[in-house]
Amino acid sequence: MALCVEDGLGRHDLSCVSPKSKREDLPHVVILGGGFAGLYAARHLYKAPVRVTMVDRHNHHLFQPLLYQVATATLSPSEIAAPLRALLGRHDVSVVLAEVTGVDTVGKRVLLSDGELKYDFLVIATGATHSYFGNDAWAQHAPGLKSIEDAVEIRRRILVAFELAEREPDPEVRRALLNFIIIGAGPTGVELAGSLAEISRHSLPGDFRNIDPREARIILIEGIDRVLPVYPDDLSQKACRTLEKLGVEVRTGARVTHINEQGVFIGTEFIPARTVLWAAGVAASPVARSLGAQLDRAGRVLVTPELTVPGHDDVFVVGDLASLNDADGKPVPGLAPAAMQEGKHAAHNIRRQLQGKPMEAFSYWDRGSYAVIGRGHAVGIAFRRFKQSGFSAWMAWLLIHITFLIGFRSRLAVLLDWAYSYLTFGKSARIITGPSPRLDRLQPTHALTEGGETSAAPESRFQATASHAEPASPVTH
Ligand SMILES: Cc1cc2nc3c(=O)[nH]c(=O)nc-3n(C[C@H](O)[C@H](O)[C@H](O)COP(=O)(O)OP(=O)(O)OC[C@H]3O[C@@H](n4cnc5c(N)ncnc54)[C@H](O)[C@@H]3O)c2cc1C
Repeated sequence: MALCVEDGLGRHDLSCVSPKSKREDLPHVVILGGGFAGLYAARHLYKAPVRVTMVDRHNHHLFQPLLYQVATATLSPSEIAAPLRALLGRHDVSVVLAEVTGVDTVGKRVLLSDGELKYDFLVIATGATHSYFGNDAWAQHAPGLKSIEDAVEIRRRILVAFELAEREPDPEVRRALLNFIIIGAGPTGVELAGSLAEISRHSLPGDFRNIDPREARIILIEGIDRVLPVYPDDLSQKACRTLEKLGVEVRTGARVTHINEQGVFIGTEFIPARTVLWAAGVAASPVARSLGAQLDRAGRVLVTPELTVPGHDDVFVVGDLASLNDADGKPVPGLAPAAMQEGKHAAHNIRRQLQGKPMEAFSYWDRGSYAVIGRGHAVGIAFRRFKQSGFSAWMAWLLIHITFLIGFRSRLAVLLDWAYSYLTFGKSARIITGPSPRLDRLQPTHALTEGGETSAAPESRFQATASHAEPASPVTH
């Protein structure tokens, strides 16, 4: 079996690189993606009679559930990410840093941007990405939160907005700088809004001389009529009340129709804001399209109960990229525990195939899910039936996240940062990196209409005509 990668230095047969040549005779399992699903698949193939290669475009595994804490300056990137080589070295896995562009199921090849890999078994776990519902131009004005780079950029935008406001003489521009809009009130949007409210109300006052950060408006916009639509109605209402107590303006039933560098349109209403964050939609990784398999509306692969692509027992799709229903007919959610369990199950079914046994159907064990709404508050459901809210839910959330954080150092560091943040409201990672703030890039006092014309209306009267685009809809995790 050839394992070839091409780079600027030519074509390399990676099979020659391994010192253990007898490994070459073993079936080759290629895992695409080192997220929760890929990592669990790789770890559960340890000591199986296979050779495992993991491909990822990043060299690290990322604990996405805590990304919002990097974006809002509580944690540092290194506390929620760990190098794949370090995590998998002990499990005898080869790691390849590469971009996957497609899969050829007939030739049993993974196509990379700079080469290809042959496989005997393939586990596809490339996850999901942002969806702007066809309005991709919004991405530059309203970044989503999916990677370390996204989180650091969002942190930069938030902190720079306060810095620029401190130096801004024009009260209207200052107001726009201190307006923070989050689009989408799923768990990520709610977590970002709560955390931003805490920064402005508790962490930053005292740091600035010309502005009062407590005057910042945190506006959470949701297309449907409640926040956290994946939770029962009473938990949504509790979450909404907690957000409002924190000072977040919650706008439900409000459909964003346009976003530009000056702010957000909801129909004809314009809200000026220099910081707009997108938490409203996810779409499956494009790798799914190359399989020629049936996809659902979000582009996820409709897999068999055994987690394979129909007609291809050697190709598994797991994690956020897989679409399937549980035994009780409910869709398996796009959550980290589901991805871990699916990754583990794909490994289990590969082992069974190697033993000549029939594969087994996947069954999701739902232990619960939680969304945090600021310091000491969360809502959640444990084991599908026990509703929790307030401090006890927050404690449950904290325990779960510490348990699943990869690596002892991360756990300890995160715990210490949380304790510091909890006791002092301090945000220890308030570092601006990236391009330096430039006041001269800001346009003065005016709202832009969609066509780019300026209208000098004050904030309360900002009106503009806007064509209707897709509604903001909830994040699906
Ligand atoms: C901001 C945020 C907050 C979340 N909060 C929670 C939470 O509180 N609780 C919870 O349970 N779940 C949460 N989730 C969802 C959870 O993180 C996902 O369900 C889980 O990460 C899915 O795992 P996965 O392995 O399928 O995909 P991912 O973890 O997304 O991993 C995909 C991997 O594939 C790699 N990859 C993608 N495309 C390519 C390519 N073309 N070439 C090479 N490599 C590629 C990526 O680099 C990545 O390492 C959250 C998600 C986000 C974004």
